[in-house]
Amino acid sequence: LGRRINSAVNDLTRSNNLDEKAFDDMLKEICAALLSADVNVLSTSPPLPAAVNKKRLIQKTVFDELVALVDPHAQPFRPKKGRPNVIMFVGLQGAGKTTTCTKLARHYQTRGFKTALVCADTFRAGAFDQLKQNATKAKIPYYGSLTQTDPAIVAAEGVAKFKKERFDIIIVDTSGRHRQEEELFTEMTQIQTAVTPDQTILVLDGTIGQAAESQSAAFKATADFGAIIITKTDGHAAGGGAISAVAATHTPIIFLGTGEHMMDLERFEPRAFVQKLLGMGDVASLVEHVQAITKDSSSAKETYKHIAEGIYTIRDFRENITSIMKMGPLSKLSGMIPGLSNLTQGLDDEDGSMKLRRMIYIFDSMTAAELDSDGKTFVDQPSRMVRIAHGSGTTVREVEDLLSQHRMMAGMAKRVGGQKKQMQRAQNML
Ligand code: GDP
Ligand code: MG
Repeated sequence: LGRRINSAVNDLTRSNNLDEKAFDDMLKEICAALLSADVNVLSTSPPLPAAVNKKRLIQKTVFDELVALVDPHAQPFRPKKGRPNVIMFVGLQGAGKTTTCTKLARHYQTRGFKTALVCADTFRAGAFDQLKQNATKAKIPYYGSLTQTDPAIVAAEGVAKFKKERFDIIIVDTSGRHRQEEELFTEMTQIQTAVTPDQTILVLDGTIGQAAESQSAAFKATADFGAIIITKTDGHAAGGGAISAVAATHTPIIFLGTGEHMMDLERFEPRAFVQKLLGMGDVASLVEHVQAITKDSSSAKETYKHIAEGIYTIRDFRENITSIMKMGPLSKLSGMIPGLSNLTQGLDDEDGSMKLRRMIYIFDSMTAAELDSDGKTFVDQPSRMVRIAHGSGTTVREVEDLLSQHRMMAGMAKRVGGQKKQMQRAQNML
């Protein structure tokens, strides 16, 4: 069942045209899969009113089914302070291990853990240099060797050194390529034996689609891991692969890599993830809807031109929120707008609009340059967030939320805009 749903979702995420028809095709296929697996689509809810919206019902069933698939209800490892926690990364070359181990180290470091990195990739020339550069930038102590060629020895040396120096978290980066695949798996086992990690994390490239299933199964069989991190979820649709990896290994995803920057690591939330995945199909209809309401607004036109080009500035985001506020009751709109349902989840119409109004206060406290930016300026200078929170009478948390919402929308605009057909369509609509 999982496989069939995955492939239906994948067809959707792979299709060039994320339109109503593609979405309907997916729902049909999933509905058939559910029925053939004896899941009674109708038994999942109480007696139906006569005029039930079938699409909504199926959508909900699919949603719950997908959430169940990506949430194995296994508790991932939680490091404890005051004792060494050894974390080992495994995964194929290019998956994002070296990038992600610095991100994770930084994540723990900012939470008060004394954290260090060990480079046990002796296969690739330059691997140690790359880790060294990242670690230096993030001010994280590191260990590696330019002369020792046995990765298990380097790993053991590094871990022993940092244990002696009473580090809380020691992250071991490994190689991902060998002349032969067996050699790689043997090496992973040897390193595991040498450092006895408290946690092994599989790093998976989110753009590899269904290959995630066999890849994660192969690692599971040799270098047993207890958690997964999916990288590169910023550029492409990463849904199907992630779901397959979890389904094949019953191992929880703990983080998502959302960009090349050190800060681009997000905690994995099954519900939000699936919402985003399914919400994608509605981007085109959202564009149409917003367009209909803001037909004669020139700034709205600017925004659509931007989206068509794959650009989405903070000002574009402000424009969209303003349009949404003009559209009427939020309850009618959420579900159609992936970001919005995240934003106003659990709020009634009144609290929801209040939240949007507070967002407008935040936008209004930004400078013109900040509004026209892609938001990176806030990552580089977090003090700007404090200034804006003060100026708008909101909290830094709210400013952060708004910026992360913007990043998500910008990622979507990039995807949609990158597709030529979409671009043409958006232009025709202007
Ligand atoms: P490794 O071989 O597994 O150590 O992979 P690297 O950490 O060297 O990453 C390979 C490439 O993927 C690099 O160019 C990274 O910048 C890029 N990369 C890693 N994580 C992400 C991510 O979350 N998003 C994007 N866009 N690129 C990433
Ligand atoms: Mg590497």
